Formats: sequence, C-alpha cells, structure tokens
Amino acid sequence: MDLALVGIGKIARDQHVPSLDASPDWKLAATVSRHGSVDGVEQFTSFEQFLDERQDIRVVSLCLPPVPRFDYAVQAIAAGRHVMLEKPPGASVAECQKLLAMARAQGVALYATWHSREAAMVDAARDWLAGQKLRKLTVTWHEDVRRWHPGQDWIWEPGGLGVFDPGINALSIVTKLLPDTLHLGAAELITPENRQCPIAAKLRFAHPNGADIRADFDWRKEGDQIWRIEAETDSGMMTLDAGGAQLSIDGVPQQSDSAALSGEYPRLYARFADLVASGSCDVDLAPLQHVADAFMIGRREITAPFHE
Ligand code: NAP
Repeated sequence: MDLALVGIGKIARDQHVPSLDASPDWKLAATVSRHGSVDGVEQFTSFEQFLDERQDIRVVSLCLPPVPRFDYAVQAIAAGRHVMLEKPPGASVAECQKLLAMARAQGVALYATWHSREAAMVDAARDWLAGQKLRKLTVTWHEDVRRWHPGQDWIWEPGGLGVFDPGINALSIVTKLLPDTLHLGAAELITPENRQCPIAAKLRFAHPNGADIRADFDWRKEGDQIWRIEAETDSGMMTLDAGGAQLSIDGVPQQSDSAALSGEYPRLYARFADLVASGSCDVDLAPLQHVADAFMIGRREITAPFHE
C-alpha cells in the first residue's frame, strides 16, 4: 500500500526509509518535508498541498518532533488518512487523547508507536516476568546526548522532553513488562541552567506489591552507553540489556524466537499494516503519562549549563 513519510530527518532516514523499502506491505510513494527528501520519491514541502494533490495516498507516517507533529496529525486525520506517530505520540497527554477521539470518529487507524517495545528480547522478558513475584526493578538509561542528538535544539525546548526523549523508551518497555501496575511516586529532574528540559532524572514508582521500582536517566554518559533494566524476583534475576536486544536470566544469555529478530521498525510497520486493514487504533499513553507526572510532581535541581 502507498504511504507518505512526513519529516525527513534523522529517524526517517535511519529507520523508516530502509524498513519501508524492505516491507512487503508498504511502498514509499511520497515525502513531505521542508528540506529533506528521498531519492526517487515524489517530494512535497507543503502538507496541505500533499493532502490535496495525492488523495490516492491514504496513509501517512509522521516522523517530526512531537511539538510540530500534532498539527500535522490533526490535518491528516481530518483528511481521512490513517496515521502512524513516532514516539512520543505527542507533547501532552491531552493532545494524544484528542487525536485518538478524532481518529475513532473518522474511522481511520491511529498508531502511537513505541519502537523499543519491539526490541528483540522484550516479549521474552515480559513472558519470563509474568507470574513472578517482583522484588525490585531498576532502569539505568545512561547515554551521551552529544553523540545521539547533535544539533537537535528542539529536544531541549518545552515539549521536547529532554532526557525523557530516550527515557520514555525505557518507560515504554517497563509498562509492557508490568502493565497497569505502576504509578509515579516521586521524581527528581536535573536541568541545565540554560535549558528548559532535564539532562538527568531519577524516578521512583509505587507498585501494588510494594516492589522497589526505580529509573535513572542520564544524558551525560561518555564512553560505554547503558540501556539496561534489571529485575529481581523470588525465583531469580533478569537483565534486559542493550535497549531490549539482550536478555539474561541469572547471568545466562537467552535466545529470541526468529520473529522478534526482524527489527524494531519492520515490526512497527507490520503492525501498522494490520491496523490500517482493520481501521483500528493502538494508542497506549502510559509511558507519556509517567513522563507528564514526572514534570508535575518532580523536584527541580538546576545544574551546570549545557553547551554542545
Ligand atoms: P529531527 O531529525 O530533528 O527532525 C525530523 C524532521 O522533522 C526534520 O528533519 C525536519 O524536516 C522536521 N521538522 C523539525 N522541526 C520541525 C518543525 N518545527 N516544523 C515542521 N517540521 C519540522 O528529529 P528525529 O531525530 O528524526 O526525531 C523525530 C521523532 O522521532 C522524535 O519524536 C524522536 O523522539 C523520534 N525518534 C528519534 C530517534 C533518533 O535516533 N533520532 C529514534 C527513535 C525515535 P524539514 O526541515 O525537512 O521539514
């Protein structure tokens, strides 16, 4: 099926274009971006013009940053297009709820993607944890913002989420591992004095069984990067590492089934094909709700200015 990709920047080039090229379900038929383009694909710089001139393309995938993405999503849904959203699905919880209500009223598919949930070992980790008595779960998400987000000023602006831009990936995994059981109890947000959004954050969650659930996000990590979730249960230790790509139980590496190895974005696009076929929505806002709550109840600490 024909699809248009909107916002041709880092993630569109790194993941969406190759995944679409390899997909049996999709054909990249147009791009919409003020500056970016993809060789050999019809290019628009105006979204209104695209919606008007290519009414045959019924599906759009929005790869813009969260703040500008909302207006594009509203226009697309109003024009009867099926929509896939990059993570986070919006800059606020309420605007995502609004998009979901619009999509349902229009009868179009809306997919709020969480690419980290599709990492190779996340399903296996969820299956292992199900039925276990959890004592403790610790998230350590430490990466180097200069390495992963060079020149991306939007990420420091209101709605850009700061360190929660990667941190929400960890929260998307945690909320898949422990569905419907958590709410945020306390947070600390460490924000450079010259920026709007935190460069580090510490979260503590309340769990119905009293398990100790914490997350530590830090964008100041040089050298080896850490994207790790460790769970201590009555029957052993689970470590989900490399952003969900590696799993070990009591130190023994686990193997994934082959379907999980197809890659995060190919799995997202396969799921989106199913949603479009049935005109259904998949919008889980739990990870975004935790981030919103952190901004609401978090203690503020101001730290040294950040310069690239
Ligand atoms: P990006 O490269 O900074 O931006 C993507 C494109 O969006 C830009 O090239 C720009 O294209 C367009 N854009 C930016 N600001 C805009 C504005 N104010 N109005 C209209 N268009 C605007 O961002 P990205 O890294 O690809 O991230 C995009 C989304 O994907 C984010 O939500 C991010 O969290 C998510 N994501 C990123 C990564 C990653 O590794 N970077 C990984 C997973 C998910 P034009 O100038 O051509 O219009």
